[in-house]
Amino acid sequence: MPTMPAPFTTDDYRARMARAADAAAEAGLAGVLVAPGPDLVHLTGYRPVSTERLTMLVLAADREPVLVVPTLEAPDAEEAAGAAAFTVRDWTDGKDPYAVTAPLLDADGRFGVSDNTWAMHLLGLQRQLPGTSYTSLTEALPMLRAVKDAHELALIEAAGAAADETYHEILKVRFAGRGEAEVAADLAALLKQFGHSQVDFTVVGSGPNGANPHHEAGDRTILHGDMVVLDFGGLKHGYGSDTSRTVHVGEPTPAEQHVHDVVREAQQAGFEAVRPGVACQEIDRAAREIIEEAGYGDLFIHRTGHGIGVTTHEPPYMIEGEEQSLIPGMCFSVEPGIYLPGRFGVRIEDIVTVTEDGGRRFNNTAREMAIVE
Ligand code: ZN
Ligand code: ZN
Ligand code: ZN
Repeated sequence: MPTMPAPFTTDDYRARMARAADAAAEAGLAGVLVAPGPDLVHLTGYRPVSTERLTMLVLAADREPVLVVPTLEAPDAEEAAGAAAFTVRDWTDGKDPYAVTAPLLDADGRFGVSDNTWAMHLLGLQRQLPGTSYTSLTEALPMLRAVKDAHELALIEAAGAAADETYHEILKVRFAGRGEAEVAADLAALLKQFGHSQVDFTVVGSGPNGANPHHEAGDRTILHGDMVVLDFGGLKHGYGSDTSRTVHVGEPTPAEQHVHDVVREAQQAGFEAVRPGVACQEIDRAAREIIEEAGYGDLFIHRTGHGIGVTTHEPPYMIEGEEQSLIPGMCFSVEPGIYLPGRFGVRIEDIVTVTEDGGRRFNNTAREMAIVE
């Protein structure tokens, strides 16, 4: 019987909010302002829709968390994280929500603001408090959600296992003669069958479409002889999955097999570079070096990886120039690729977590090129 994982507790949320407030103070900020979105979900468990009505969590090191909400949404907000998590300050339609929020803020403070805060809300606060200034929360505190606790790791592992089940099943479906969108719909249905509540992407890049890493799925009919990049993921119990495998319809040519072998070796090298204290850019370098040595350096046109948690793409980023050290509990993708314009692409992606001893994969399906029909 599948069981629901235990929910996070009010204590979990209070600890997260306290950590965020402390980190903000350490970064020289007067506080953190969080609009509806992944940061609010992580800090409070509350998932309101993002609208023209102001909802904003105000965190500062020296005071209790306050959630500003429209009066009509106050009951839901109080239920979300447990009434003890924060104080609710509501405002009624017709009142100025920024005038309600302003007394909670230092009039000349600098604040970290969640990246998805609507401009109208930030402009409203600036109008009320012209002495305040603001910076992107992702820029100011990029590591806010990066290190996962044991409970979060279990959820990301479970999401990864569901993505692996999806891959096993997709190998059994027909590819040749069907549209990319049909296989993409199969992927989405399988992710849901294995417990995902949200499907974020189902890339099916066949033949030349595989050379475009952001190609999702179109009306191209998959042909015998195609390489097909599959990249799919979403949220299960609120935490993300994201995995990629490249399959071939029928037997590959030696050239196709060679490119796939290079990507697989690069993915392995990136994975083996994972251990505490290593800079994020070293993961990118380890994978990229293999691809450059094989002569395909110009055709690896994206970063090697990205963090994952309550979203499917977030810091830390595995890219040249990112000197942040890996810390046990971080989770991110290792996903090198080679893209030959007009011909085909290959990408192999696993979610990896950092442990005291090195990396541990949350995707464990075979990385050898699978042959499909
Ligand atoms: Zn082929
Ligand atoms: Zn992916
Ligand atoms: Zn990814």
